[in-house]
Amino acid sequence: MSQIHKPRKRFGQNFLHDYAVVENIVACVQPKPGDHIVEIGPGKGVLTEFLLRPDIQLDIIELDRDLVSLLEKKFSCQENLRVYSADALQFDFSELRKQNEKLRIVGNLPYNISTPLLFHLFENVECINDMYFMLQKQVVDRICALPGSKKYGRLSVMSQYYCSPEMLFEVAPDSFDPSPKVMSAVIRLEPHAEPKVDVSSFACLDRVVKQAFSQRRKTLRNSIGGLISEDVIKLLSIDSGLRAEALSLRDFSKLSNALYEIENG
Ligand code: SAM
Repeated sequence: MSQIHKPRKRFGQNFLHDYAVVENIVACVQPKPGDHIVEIGPGKGVLTEFLLRPDIQLDIIELDRDLVSLLEKKFSCQENLRVYSADALQFDFSELRKQNEKLRIVGNLPYNISTPLLFHLFENVECINDMYFMLQKQVVDRICALPGSKKYGRLSVMSQYYCSPEMLFEVAPDSFDPSPKVMSAVIRLEPHAEPKVDVSSFACLDRVVKQAFSQRRKTLRNSIGGLISEDVIKLLSIDSGLRAEALSLRDFSKLSNALYEIENG
């Protein structure tokens, strides 16, 4: 079956066939006894095989039913491995936990859904210890970007609100079958133990950030003026003549808390 499975573009299937890369990912994850690891999009189970060891719980979530059958056969003797035939975008990760343990999430992610998947995981961040993902290099660059960079945007602010990101290593297209057109990179995301900034409402933070970056060339007074008046922006000691890309996470938290106050008194 693994020989005849034709990669499906709609499922973002680019299978890793470079074992050095697989070993590198596992060396970064460093599975430890007692770990509960969840792999998203195991495909044919290449990374799964290397992650698996007898003293961990490994749960794998795959959308493609043909691959699910293959994985069920391949790992049928492994009592500490559970195969979930499911869409990771809809998956309730908190259900996998035993008591208050934290999950370690790993995956060579389908690139076509990587951003919504990251946002879905951020919603469950309290039950996550750390995450290791293969993504398009440009997405990794955007997640890690700092204020002042052209790559800094909504994905950077929201990712850094929840986690500390670190780019681990780059991966060339010929490590995959079929080869994607772009460079890839592996990133570690570690959820903050304590929030780095106080935010009254996550929904307000998301709205302000989205609005500010929707027209990133505009100054704040023009981009978010409809949500927060220029006077209020000034009261927060933020220059309303700046563009979104100049603002820190702390600035965005101040703006979102002001929006919350405006709307909820
Ligand atoms: N981990 C394998 C590897 O490295 O060779 C496969 C990686 S491939 C880039 C992405 C995998 O995610 C595919 O197996 C694909 O079927 C699966 N996938 C795509 N969308 C998914 C979703 N919404 N939920 C779970 N798995 C998904």
